[in-house]
Amino acid sequence: MFELPDLGYSFDALEPYIDAQTMEIHHDKHHAAYVAKLNEALQSLPEWQGKPIEEILKYIESIPSDARNAVRNNGGGHYNHTLFWETMKPGGGKKPPEAITKAFGSFDDFKTKFTAEAVGRFGSGWAWLVKDGDNLEIISTQNQETPLKESKAPILGLDVWEHAYYLKYQNRRPEYIEAWWNVVNWDTVAKRLNT
Ligand code: MN
Repeated sequence: MFELPDLGYSFDALEPYIDAQTMEIHHDKHHAAYVAKLNEALQSLPEWQGKPIEEILKYIESIPSDARNAVRNNGGGHYNHTLFWETMKPGGGKKPPEAITKAFGSFDDFKTKFTAEAVGRFGSGWAWLVKDGDNLEIISTQNQETPLKESKAPILGLDVWEHAYYLKYQNRRPEYIEAWWNVVNWDTVAKRLNT
């Protein structure tokens, strides 16, 4: 059984960049629903119960087809949101790791490229910084798909579903993204880079 993890900070901790009401609904309703539905989907898959979520998502194509979409959507939802909460922090982290500025030329170049990917993701999905072997790449995925099944390790992820920003930013996704940079937890990002 998977459980909804704590946020690690209060709902209003990321104000004014991400508002308390959005955080509360996002965590307590959206993420909680992904966890509940993931557990429900796994009931018919005893051989997958007790496995880490990363493993389940990496081998998603091995899940029987009648349960696969439920596991992909809700398992992905659980994994992605857990990472999302962990890579944010009130006041943000210190500085972006040097590996990122090195890989993309400068922090501004990285930010511009990541932002373009996040703005350009049509409909619901995520923008990612991933590690593929020794390379760092910026990609995006649709809905709750994760980079894991391509054996890419997510380092930083940004939720661009409307539920992540609509209450405060309405249709202004670029404004939400610009604000989000203020609360990125670079300490966690650095840790993920080094594992
Ligand atoms: Mn979300």
